[in-house]
Amino acid sequence: MSGLNLDLPTLIVTSTAVNLLIAGLLWATYRLREHQRCFRLWALACLTFAVGGLLAAFRVVVDAPTLTVLLAHLLLGLSPFLVLAGLHSLMGLPIAGARRSTQLWRWVGSGYVLLLVLTYAWHPLMPRLLTALLTALVFSQAVYRLQSLRRRPGLPALLLKILFALHGTLMVVQVLYLGASLTGLGNPDPQPLLEAILINHLLLATATALVLPLFAFTEAEASLRALADRDDLTGLLNRRAFYRHANRAFEQARSKARPLTVLMIDLDHFKQINDRWGHTVGDETLRFFAGLLSRELRDTDVIGRLGGEEFGVVLDSSTHGDVGAVTQRLLERITAEGRLINGVPVYLSASIGGATCHPRKTDLSTLLRRADTALYQAKRNGRNRIEFARPADAAV
Ligand code: GH3
Ligand code: MG
Ligand code: MG
Repeated sequence: MSGLNLDLPTLIVTSTAVNLLIAGLLWATYRLREHQRCFRLWALACLTFAVGGLLAAFRVVVDAPTLTVLLAHLLLGLSPFLVLAGLHSLMGLPIAGARRSTQLWRWVGSGYVLLLVLTYAWHPLMPRLLTALLTALVFSQAVYRLQSLRRRPGLPALLLKILFALHGTLMVVQVLYLGASLTGLGNPDPQPLLEAILINHLLLATATALVLPLFAFTEAEASLRALADRDDLTGLLNRRAFYRHANRAFEQARSKARPLTVLMIDLDHFKQINDRWGHTVGDETLRFFAGLLSRELRDTDVIGRLGGEEFGVVLDSSTHGDVGAVTQRLLERITAEGRLINGVPVYLSASIGGATCHPRKTDLSTLLRRADTALYQAKRNGRNRIEFARPADAAV
């Protein structure tokens, strides 16, 4: 490594020490949070990486290729697998991924071991090529997994994605370079570039090991927060979260000078449904209704269960066009689909109070109050209907 002036043995020893330390830290974290198996898998990943690297480094002083080449590469190849397994475990997937990919990875893993055993004694560059290829494959799968995160990714997820992508690319470069050298097409002395790659490999692996626990913590916190925002029975936003999201939607509409519609929805004669069919059917009706709202409205709308059989909706008016027609269709779907719920003739209907307004002319609590008054009016006018607050009222 003439250009960088880095001493490779020192770097290997440092990287081994750091990886062993991180492995210890991850293991300790696992002992504290035994429900999060990802920490154990990542601790093992760091350990296999450190031991594999150390064994490989002994190659220059010990002539025992079974240990310093074969075993070293088996451990170095296992390490990225364990990282991926930890990611899967954190995301609630089986550790080998979905069933189809389990099969695929079994083939890839077996192919790697077989080729390694057959070729490690044949050419010293072969094990490096195979391990680099395997690592590139595993890390591209890791990037794909992180890409499929439903939530908006935080900084650690973004960092991890970058690290996996860089690492995967580096491994592809190594595969190409080694392939060219093996076939006699490339540089006959691949050592300087391989050393440069190795140094970057060690740095990236160590950085990844440091970012993994951060990622696990932010993921755990995000899923706890999401859980705290949800109503247990229906999975909709609970009252507190609804108001928070509604406020955000209101501020956005205000800044973009767009009108906003608030709906207050109350199921009709719900007490009678409970009395006649029992509380379980009542609960099923609430779940059915939440599902119907989610299906009929847009992802950008805010939908919440405000309590009992009362729901709130904030509609992004700009995406809905005629709000009157949207709510009318909603009522029709409630009576059509709610006639029979899980085989019980519930004959569900709902009353809706709506208020549309320009956010610059009012505030959210006024808008909600107007919608509530309109709901009361809908109940008084016979239920199973919509009443809108008069624009003049809503604009106060
Ligand atoms: P209205 O048409 O005037 O709205 O009449 P209603 O019967 O729907 O209204 P009321 O406020 O009299 O009754 C609401 C009922 O909702 C009473 C309560 O037992 C029931 N309820 C509230 N929360 C739940 C729940 O989580 N599950 C079930 N099954 N019932 C609930
Ligand atoms: Mg009711
Ligand atoms: Mg009610």
